[in-house]
Amino acid sequence: MARAATEHRFGDGIFIRGLIEIGNHCRCDCLYCGIRAGNSDTRRYRLSRDTILDCCRFGYDRGFRTFVLQGGEDPVYDHGVLTDIIEAIRNDFPDVAITLSVGERERSVYAEWRRAGADRYLLRHETANLEHYARLHPPAQTWENRRRCLHDLQDLGYQTGGGFMVGSPYQTDDDLAADILFIRDLDPAMVGIGPFIPHHASPFRDFPPGDVGTTLFLLSLLRLLFPRVLLPATTALGSLVPDGREQGILAGANVVMPNLTPADTRGSYDLYDNKLSDGAEAGENLVALKQRLHRIGRQVVVSRGDYV
Ligand code: SAH
Repeated sequence: MARAATEHRFGDGIFIRGLIEIGNHCRCDCLYCGIRAGNSDTRRYRLSRDTILDCCRFGYDRGFRTFVLQGGEDPVYDHGVLTDIIEAIRNDFPDVAITLSVGERERSVYAEWRRAGADRYLLRHETANLEHYARLHPPAQTWENRRRCLHDLQDLGYQTGGGFMVGSPYQTDDDLAADILFIRDLDPAMVGIGPFIPHHASPFRDFPPGDVGTTLFLLSLLRLLFPRVLLPATTALGSLVPDGREQGILAGANVVMPNLTPADTRGSYDLYDNKLSDGAEAGENLVALKQRLHRIGRQVVVSRGDYV
């Protein structure tokens, strides 16, 4: 049913977003995440403005019309650094959508980035259950602030993406139901969901990964409940099983986010172990992605792919 609903709304079109992982410095200590501040076992990097613009040029020439700048909560970006980069992208590529995903910030910073030309923001709520939130994050990171951020973003006119991990430690079915109700109330443009996958240097290293079947079921449920919503077949889903991306699309997803980060840096943005960044996940390999989508009756659309 979800597949039919997706085809009814979007035909055979799949929106692509070029993901640029701009840096992995992070002040946060999310217990599930491989780039958490407490992980000393990772090579930290920050892409320069010129490198980011090169990634955009490379992606633009291949048909990308949305760039997603994602990274850790690097305080450096607060001080005009990212503003400059957004302005430069806006100037060089007037017809693209600029999406940010760099965590929790002050409202004034979100406002500055919006003025500079950012259109969208991805900030998963992670879990709608307060107590569960506190088991996934240190006390300094509150559910209240995450929610404040989401509301500020929407208020400032960003097309906003929420979402959550499936099978994160201590999650119950009730939590997942609460997540769906939270999404209903938030009414975001995009919902990013993917299975939790352990990272070897995180406190959650010994927890099992989330279940693929449950993730697919939830994608379908989201599609049926929110027919217009943008639903990515996430990298985490593609990392867990070889045809995860395709299964996600056939369950109701209509967006994929190939990786445009320079190949020599990709390995450092290690949110979890064995994160996919080659094959059809690689931005330079759009031909492979197109072939795989073609096999399931889908085609890449060259457009911003706005929420309507
Ligand atoms: N700093 C940004 C980007 C975080 S990474 C922010 O706070 O939004 C993007 C998403 O990856 C997170 O929101 C989280 O849901 C997901 N993620 C992080 N660690 C993960 C893991 N171990 N397994 C699966 N997904 C994970």
